[in-house]
Amino acid sequence: MATVEVNRVSKSFAGRQVLADLSLTMGEGELVCLLGPSGCGKTTLLRIIAGFIPPESGRVLVAGKDVTALSPSARRMGMVFQAYSLFPNMTALDNVRFGPRVAGRPKSEQIARAGQLLDLVGLSEHADKYPHQLSGGQQQRVALARALAVQPQVLLLDEPLSALDAKVRVQLREEIRRIQRETGVTTVLVTHDQEEALSISDRVAVMNEGRLLQVASPSTIYREPSCGFVARFIGSGAVLRGVAEGHSVRVANLALPASAAAAHVHGAAVEMFIRPENVRLQPMNGQLPPGAVGVEVRERTFLGSLTRIRLTLPGTDDQFSLWADLASEQAEAFIPGSRVVAQWDEAAPRV
Ligand code: ADP
Ligand code: MG
Repeated sequence: MATVEVNRVSKSFAGRQVLADLSLTMGEGELVCLLGPSGCGKTTLLRIIAGFIPPESGRVLVAGKDVTALSPSARRMGMVFQAYSLFPNMTALDNVRFGPRVAGRPKSEQIARAGQLLDLVGLSEHADKYPHQLSGGQQQRVALARALAVQPQVLLLDEPLSALDAKVRVQLREEIRRIQRETGVTTVLVTHDQEEALSISDRVAVMNEGRLLQVASPSTIYREPSCGFVARFIGSGAVLRGVAEGHSVRVANLALPASAAAAHVHGAAVEMFIRPENVRLQPMNGQLPPGAVGVEVRERTFLGSLTRIRLTLPGTDDQFSLWADLASEQAEAFIPGSRVVAQWDEAAPRV
């Protein structure tokens, strides 16, 4: 088990910068998700950590040792890719013992270790099957066992679940988490799926355009996004542009309650971010209560136990939307086209 340190790594392809002076440190046994939109450089970063491509500048350290010049095999890392990359002409067991075999371990040891790992991923009964006889989820379990067979210091997983259907994806991500905890191997998992990242990680590293925007625990990323991009990318919510004004943000002609944070930047152009679970609605009965905002119901989207309601600020030509998540039976009272009262705790929005 080892710490991994990416130190000021940059990379360009054909003169286009893909990673820009990026640094990230992972603790021993930690699981960090690299999360970001397609094309932001996640795979490139993973391949640099693995040693498949050299960085243009910067270094990679494992357990404090500079491995930047080492070949992939000398780095003792295990890797799993999105596409099932098993050897099609080998059984599950032979796939898993491949690494130890190449490393010249005695045959009895290869087989014993492969057997243990297939057990760990719940596939002991399928040891003699070929990849084409296994489902996608089972093939990824074999790929995971194969990656662990070399007793890696670091496990690198590049969107290992994205080719699987939703139910298997959720099962297998819980499985990956369990196995990662049991083996204690420092793990970097690349994903573009924010729910996956939030549910599985010790820390999430949000990336965009070759840069890290925020590295923090899932709950911090969710509650305290560091910028508008992270706020938009993680979970859902409204980002409203306005001007800070005392304890509120002025958007169009309305003062939206937004805590003391706004007061620090009085007069500045700001973005205010509020999550749907923080917005409460009630019917409009005469006067607006203090701190409340009159809004119009636009659409309702049934999500099962919750219904998401899109609201617009009056007199803004639909330019400013916010959302409220309500229990579905409660949401029925809020008819599209009606004016309602929206409220939230002053501390709820991020400014
Ligand atoms: P992600 O994994 O986040 O989707 P990648 O790291 O695969 O992103 O790619 C980042 C950018 O670098 C993309 O614009 C991609 O087209 C480009 N890129 C990646 N690998 C190469 C390569 N070998 N040659 C040229 N461009 C590349
Ligand atoms: Mg990728």
